[in-house]
Amino acid sequence: MSSESAPIRQGNCEPCESLAANFERHIRNWLSRDEKVPGDLYYALALSVKEQLFEHWRSTRRQDLSYQKKQVAYLSLEFLMGRALGNMLLCLDLTDECRQSLNQLAIDLEEIQEQEHDAGLGNGGLGRLAACFMDSCATMDIAATGYGIRYEYGMFMQRIADGYQQEMPDKWLRMGNPWEVRVNSHNVNVPFYGRTETYLDKKGRRHIAWVDTQDVLAVAYDMPIPGYRNQRVNTLRLWKAEATDDFDLSEFNQGDYAEAVARKNLAEQITMVLYPNDASENGKELRLRQQYFLSSASLQDLLKNWVNAFGEDFSRFAEYNVMQLNDTHPSIAVPELMRLLVDVHGLEWDEAWDITTSCMAYTNHTLLPEALERWPVRMLGNILPRILEIIYEINARYLDKVAQLWPGDHHKLRTLSIIEEGHEQYVRMAYLAIVGSFSVNGVAGLHTELLKQGLFKDFYQLWPEKFNNRTNGVTPRRWLAMCNPGLSELITQKIGDQWVTDLPQLSQLRQFADDVAFVKQWAAIKRQNKARLARLIKRETGVEFDNSMLFDVQVKRIHEYKRQLLNILHVIHLYDRICRGDTDGMVPRCVLIGGKAAPGYAMAKQIIKLANNVAHMVNSDKNMAPWLRMVFLPNYNVSAMEKIAPGTDLSEQISTAGKEASGTGNMKFMMNGALTIGTLDGANIEMLEEVGEENFFLFGLTAAEVAEQRKDYRPNEIINNSAALSGVMQLLESGHFNLLEPGIFDHIIGAIRDPYDQWMTAADFDAYCSAQQAVAAAYQQPAHWYRMSILNTAASGRFSSDVTIAGYRDEIWRA
Ligand SMILES: *Cc1c(COP(=O)(O)O)cnc(C)c1O
Repeated sequence: MSSESAPIRQGNCEPCESLAANFERHIRNWLSRDEKVPGDLYYALALSVKEQLFEHWRSTRRQDLSYQKKQVAYLSLEFLMGRALGNMLLCLDLTDECRQSLNQLAIDLEEIQEQEHDAGLGNGGLGRLAACFMDSCATMDIAATGYGIRYEYGMFMQRIADGYQQEMPDKWLRMGNPWEVRVNSHNVNVPFYGRTETYLDKKGRRHIAWVDTQDVLAVAYDMPIPGYRNQRVNTLRLWKAEATDDFDLSEFNQGDYAEAVARKNLAEQITMVLYPNDASENGKELRLRQQYFLSSASLQDLLKNWVNAFGEDFSRFAEYNVMQLNDTHPSIAVPELMRLLVDVHGLEWDEAWDITTSCMAYTNHTLLPEALERWPVRMLGNILPRILEIIYEINARYLDKVAQLWPGDHHKLRTLSIIEEGHEQYVRMAYLAIVGSFSVNGVAGLHTELLKQGLFKDFYQLWPEKFNNRTNGVTPRRWLAMCNPGLSELITQKIGDQWVTDLPQLSQLRQFADDVAFVKQWAAIKRQNKARLARLIKRETGVEFDNSMLFDVQVKRIHEYKRQLLNILHVIHLYDRICRGDTDGMVPRCVLIGGKAAPGYAMAKQIIKLANNVAHMVNSDKNMAPWLRMVFLPNYNVSAMEKIAPGTDLSEQISTAGKEASGTGNMKFMMNGALTIGTLDGANIEMLEEVGEENFFLFGLTAAEVAEQRKDYRPNEIINNSAALSGVMQLLESGHFNLLEPGIFDHIIGAIRDPYDQWMTAADFDAYCSAQQAVAAAYQQPAHWYRMSILNTAASGRFSSDVTIAGYRDEIWRA
């Protein structure tokens, strides 16, 4: 071991070479030009930083491959990483050194950082959670590998034209990705299509072979995930699909060389593009191929590592390996692990099943029925015939258990079956994940309770021990230390710097909540952060936000359940009041809404159009200027959020109660001293518990009240009984915001008046307006407001993803 851990020279890079020297060498050797183009400088700097990581990256990998620790594989179709440079510098404690070296060359670090294209390999919260978890695992010295897909095109870029969303391709790799390393030695073949046949081995045992398959080559691209100043560098392994070498033989022999080469595209399609659906599934065949491609490549990789260390003895495999499934997207890993163990490695079914169900853990992220994945049996059987057989076998054995528990209850068998019967048969992926896992977790207290009482009630009866809660969190490195240097420095001055890896220490800030000098500094930092955000808004939209006004922000995916509509209706209500000269108790307010709509989600796209039209009316009316501004900020993404959260006064977390599984945007805002206006939903409930009701603007129906009122919901009566909402509806229905485009908001208006409106926007409107009035009153007393702001940051410690990951480590992974 001692000789192995001696530093090894890699390429032409001395491990002990300083960042500055390394950077200069890259500029000199790699970039032939003399002029300093910012994009090239970024690339050279990123390569230099990556090389600083190589030695620890290699030693981490070597250590982990010897299985001294249990290995965690985090399987996710999404990793919403954002930019890497700032985080790498922070983790290596190189930020100041780097800034100074660059200053000597008259280069501004911030400008270089702006050159980096976001790695947008995710839709929203679920993908960003995976990224935060990777950071926490590395920082907490957990041997975790992230397995994902290297999409050629990430989350689409959003442009707004005439108020409408336009999607532009996100070719994030165009300039190359300096952080990745292609590792050809880890290539694996992933089979598709073909058929199965049985054969007898030498001992007369019956086996099944999957033959005549069309294989796709999975090529590993590794990205380093450094821990915070601790010398661990974990790996994010992203798979790219390529054609296998023998793909073209038959055609080649027939002389159809060009056709054969062109078929490469078919294989490479698999990792071409991220599906831009958040909280809904569209059942596309290519998506199923992506899911299997990721699952199979990752499991083959894990098994290969194991066999290299221990040969074909899998008796202790489950002791040293655990796989966390980020939603059902990679749940096809359950039958795939069975296939690899039984068909490839020759284990008996029962032994393989024991291993599989001791390794797999499933995280559920949603209660929305439209988000539950189902694959048509016919489609699955065509693409993955062997996998479908295994699913049937798993289902048959499991239904035997169900029949023992509920003898003679055919209805139970039908409702609990992994196969949904009907005109078209489907495989219910959530059921497959639950049956195949030892742990099933929700992502906030309320969400987990609702899973146990509702969606997965019968499974909870079958296996209560599988169910557990792990409330989500966000990494305080990116979401406080890196994105808010002003506040970080002030906090460190007061309580030291241990909070960066032990966020609950922020509770020590409570003692300064009434300290006049401290409050003044706190307020000054918020103002600077608001100015920085205002510059971004001005640049992107041309609209000026005045940083003495309240910054009221809602950024997240656009979805009816998140109720951006409720926010817009409130803006219309303020507009209505200002028009009528009724500004009593009002506070000057800048409202920002941002987020992407799934390209096929018509209602979400109309909500974006409405936000833009209302913003246009507000901003072009002189009477509004002292009181109200509004923008829709295009292309909300991770790097935008790094400027938005620190510059926000009021965070909007206003989903219909019982619909938002957790939320993590809410936590980023809280950490940065924003106050929350929110419903009793997801992790809001736990945030409220931590900070106290007096420091939180709570409103609206509870999940139980929503369920109760839905039985007899009469929005038209609610509208008639509310002067405020009547006024808003009158403006909307008169076409005031769409004079040149009559009728375009009819669906939105219809939804608000619809007794079957699932999101119950009308029901919460008056309560929301009252809460907003309480916000206005509080903002007019700065000492009171900033006291609450400090107390929010102080209470945010529990929402560090380190706390969440400690829960996964101790209660699920036992790593
Ligand atoms: C944190 C984050 C999200 C999740 O936001 P929610 O408000 O929890 O839905 C989505 N997108 C980006 C870019 C984020 O940074």
